[in-house]
Amino acid sequence: MASTEDGRASQDAKLDALHEKLTDAVEQLVSGEDWARALAFAARFRARSFNNTLLIWIQHAAAFDAKLVPSPMPSYVAGYKQWQQLGRQVQKGQPGYQILAPVTGRFASANPSDPASWRRLNRSEKPKPGEVARSKMIGVRPAYVWDASQTAGDPLPSPPAPTLLEGEAPAGLWEGLAAQVYASGFDLVRVPDEASIHGANGMTDYGAKTVSVRENMDPAAQAKTLAHELGHVLMHGPDQPEARQHRGIGEVEAESVALMIGAAHGMDTAGYTIPYVATWAAQVDGKEPVEVVKATGERVRAAALRILEQLDTTQIGNGTPLGLDLDPAQRVAPERRAVAMYEVAHPASTLAATRSL
Ligand SMILES: [Zn+2]
Repeated sequence: MASTEDGRASQDAKLDALHEKLTDAVEQLVSGEDWARALAFAARFRARSFNNTLLIWIQHAAAFDAKLVPSPMPSYVAGYKQWQQLGRQVQKGQPGYQILAPVTGRFASANPSDPASWRRLNRSEKPKPGEVARSKMIGVRPAYVWDASQTAGDPLPSPPAPTLLEGEAPAGLWEGLAAQVYASGFDLVRVPDEASIHGANGMTDYGAKTVSVRENMDPAAQAKTLAHELGHVLMHGPDQPEARQHRGIGEVEAESVALMIGAAHGMDTAGYTIPYVATWAAQVDGKEPVEVVKATGERVRAAALRILEQLDTTQIGNGTPLGLDLDPAQRVAPERRAVAMYEVAHPASTLAATRSL
């Protein structure tokens, strides 16, 4: 049918336009400083893919230039209906930001290890007895989100903002990262100074299965270093040969993970991260910085997300409006949401607060 084909063509054109926007955004990241900014920004929007984070960033910047939004940085973004669920309405004249939403299909197989055995299920079809069912991404489609500042309605609760003493690490961060180092089968060694580890701040030894961090730095720097080494542990082990091709890429990835972990805790690591990342990125032969950015962005985001999900520290919101992470049944009146969200951020420590609801 012609109308379907027209729809298809306009969908393809939208996807092409989105891809162009994305390429533009990536091209803005060629300098070390922009890369660090993009990572800090992505830490704030870590529930989204790295590509979608960049799409939101560039379209919000355009809305700011057009004086449609008050701040150059988005706060929370959600879809039209999601804002309605939170008692807020997108305001007239506010453009939605196009992102790429995954399209998934359900598949079933009686022999999951054989890739050829998977068959697509129809909408209401159930797997046959003995079959395993799995959702898989089969494509993308354009979807729209709006920033909180483009909506009006019920007040948005805000999470407790972490405030850091200079030199101090965010509460619980060191302990949470250390637990993940141990869970990965590594021992954690505190060494007195850089002379003990070849002049470095930290060192990961895959053979001896140790992570070393020097103690003669501020606690904040020690926690950031531990996040960097945990990035190496998770991303660059001997069982991941494809990730070990170039030390420069490994260092860019580990330090980028550390920046995202820091940013999620209100810690500004840019002063250290920018020169570090720039120095190592420059040593990756035969690759333009923009290629390095494209190649590591999603891996870095995934590793940082994995680490952040296992921490019970107080973290800055992940770009999803507060309240949407909860089951609809758990949603409560706006004035109570702050407490409910605090519980999500702090699963272990707020039983008392939950009970007092
Ligand atoms: Zn390193």
